[in-house]
Amino acid sequence: ARTFSERIGRIEISATMAVTAEAARLRSQGAKLSDFGAGEPHFPTPRHIKDAAIAAIDGNFTRYTTVSGIPEVRQAIVNRHACDFGSNYAPDETVFTTGGKLALFNAVQVLIDHGDEVILPVPYWVSFKDIVQYAGGQAVLLETREEENFRITADAIEAAITPRTKAIILNSPSNPAGSVVSPADLERIVKLAQERGLWLLLDECYVYLSYTGALISGGSFPDAKENIVVLGSLSKTYAMTGWRAGFALGPKAVIAAMSKLQSQSTSSTASFVQKAAVAALNGSQECVCEMRAGYLRLRDRMLTRMAEIPGITCTRPDGAFYVYPNISAYLGRPGANDTMELAKRLLHEAHVVTVPGEAFGTAEHLRLSYAVTQDTIEEGLDRMKDFFAKL
Ligand code: PLP
Repeated sequence: ARTFSERIGRIEISATMAVTAEAARLRSQGAKLSDFGAGEPHFPTPRHIKDAAIAAIDGNFTRYTTVSGIPEVRQAIVNRHACDFGSNYAPDETVFTTGGKLALFNAVQVLIDHGDEVILPVPYWVSFKDIVQYAGGQAVLLETREEENFRITADAIEAAITPRTKAIILNSPSNPAGSVVSPADLERIVKLAQERGLWLLLDECYVYLSYTGALISGGSFPDAKENIVVLGSLSKTYAMTGWRAGFALGPKAVIAAMSKLQSQSTSSTASFVQKAAVAALNGSQECVCEMRAGYLRLRDRMLTRMAEIPGITCTRPDGAFYVYPNISAYLGRPGANDTMELAKRLLHEAHVVTVPGEAFGTAEHLRLSYAVTQDTIEEGLDRMKDFFAKL
């Protein structure tokens, strides 16, 4: 019969699509939008990274490569990580993937079975839940407190563990709230994973975009390596979202299983992207520092402007490049019953693109990316201020 698989019915197209599709439609009609929707750097990919890809193509480095990545790129990943976080991974403990999202997807496919519980702090990045459900697992949502900057604590995680818990997913700094797990909590969570025999999946795609000073990774705990899988991405760190470049670091057997899965699906990533990644990881990290400093300035400007809107409160994100303001004071007004409706009105009436918090598991927030120019912030927040004054 012409039916679909049961598993494809377990997931949904990201809730953010409704707003982005509508934004695209308005833009095609000539509307000038203040776009805080996209989760990607506004900076161009640094010159030396582009040059490495161009040189690879010109040198005809354009064929299939080993599935898990050329030796050079695997070496570059472990070297960079060792240098920045004191980890000690070997090249066969890493796999290069088509973006960090695929690293996460493959790790979950390899580790999670039907009925397994996976602890997931709220607000969560949209894809975590669907990726776990696609594997047959059950996401156990762990509420955090806005008053505590949505911070995830070891105590809260411990309380959520049941006999069916198989894994914990942490994302620090987080999308959407920019919350950062403290080094002390991370150490305790790592210990918990060890003691209870759980997998700790650490999505570190924003690890270099932390404004607290300390750069800390799951790889900073080499004694717990057997329980930890680090998911990394070059997308945000080096402004390379469209290149699709990510990786996993973890126990050799996990990496081998992820590579096996990759061998039956995507095979290797694009050959020249691997060369570009080598240039990014081995080259000067000055560009990363400059972009981080740029985001920090934009964050502060965004917070200042957001504070001018009466009734809106906003936690101060410690990392990534999003703000997650609480707009509950305006919910329940005509045509603004939930964040989805409000985001749609904001788009139609003020031409401001935001993502409704419902997509991240909370009912009273909007997410705005500040990886935009300062002019976009000024114009967009002027528009928001007018919009909320009239709502
Ligand atoms: N993890 C988080 C928390 C993200 O926000 C994103 C992208 O928005 C990704 C992973 C995936 O990044 P990519 O697949 O581009 O490496």
